[in-house]
Amino acid sequence: MTAGDDGATTTTTDTPPVRALYGEVVGQDGAVEQLRAMARQPVHAYLLVGPPGVGQRALVRGFAASLLCPMGGCGVCSTCRRALAGVHPDLVEVDRSGPSVTVDDARRVVRLAQRRPLEARRQVVAVSDLHLARLAAPVLLKTLEEPPGDTVFVLLADMVPTELVTVASRCVRIDLQPVSAESLTAWLTGQGVEDDLAREMATAARGSADRVRLLVDDAGFAARRRIWRDVPSRLDGTGATVATVASELLGAAEEAVEPLRLRHAADMQSLAEQAERNGERGVAGRKEIEDRHHREERRMRADELQAGLAVLAGAYRDRLAAEVTGARNAGAGRVAERVRELSGAVDAVEAVCVEMIRNPNESLMLEALLVRLSAVTG
Ligand SMILES: [Zn+2]
Repeated sequence: MTAGDDGATTTTTDTPPVRALYGEVVGQDGAVEQLRAMARQPVHAYLLVGPPGVGQRALVRGFAASLLCPMGGCGVCSTCRRALAGVHPDLVEVDRSGPSVTVDDARRVVRLAQRRPLEARRQVVAVSDLHLARLAAPVLLKTLEEPPGDTVFVLLADMVPTELVTVASRCVRIDLQPVSAESLTAWLTGQGVEDDLAREMATAARGSADRVRLLVDDAGFAARRRIWRDVPSRLDGTGATVATVASELLGAAEEAVEPLRLRHAADMQSLAEQAERNGERGVAGRKEIEDRHHREERRMRADELQAGLAVLAGAYRDRLAAEVTGARNAGAGRVAERVRELSGAVDAVEAVCVEMIRNPNESLMLEALLVRLSAVTG
């Protein structure tokens, strides 16, 4: 028996509707098809391998819903809804408690795996960042070789390093692809975002479905782009303007990180609730999870500044193109000088783009750049 195109109206087939369970997943058609097929007769361990941010969490939750739901993943019952929200007691999502997956983390996984399911006929234990398992791999291996009957493992890894090869050999492997800009753009336009803005967001998301999902909720995206694009016309050669513009640009980058901060707070809240349900005392590795959240927030802020600098370089490049096109109408000497000036501005912005990756003092670098650009007539 087969479901229809998207199965949206099918209620009694073996294959649950794609959208109900995997509606949050962007551009992973192959992996979704594999997971849907495997949900019918699950084995005890799966390994999802792919770059970060391509929708791992949404895939795990969709798959877990199909394994926990009494109807094989209807997408609408309480079991499905809780699994998809990551708050079903038989879906345990284990995050590492430090920079690597430690032996203690692995022991915690083993303990959780031996637990009986609380509500469903089986439980799903998802473990993130397994490429960072190193010493912990042998501990997990034993459980994977003698799996507890009711537990299905879903392991996630960015890649499969040598120490993980044996663990990987005990799992069914599913490869995840980086999300193409086309898929991200299509997803955004499906959410009602206009074409041009969707393309800009897809570029800014740098292949990450997680990032694009943050951007779509981010009402300030277009406004922040505009602040960067308007910089050349605002600079008037005074230090006061430089200070104002610099603080607006840095403030915009902070604002961009806000949705991620809110998401992190919500994640922490649901981890705390999960820990309580599992009878654990507090969230295991809370400090390390918070540290990781801060690292992700800093990285996003840095990416936002990079994206802004690219917009600024583009603004000068547009002026340069306009100058060259209109060259015949003005004195040749003046045009040559202006072209030199604007090319210098583009180079200066691009140099800061590169420099900012190494240099953590973003505000000083930005102010210095604006002072340099103040000499160029916008
Ligand atoms: Zn269901």
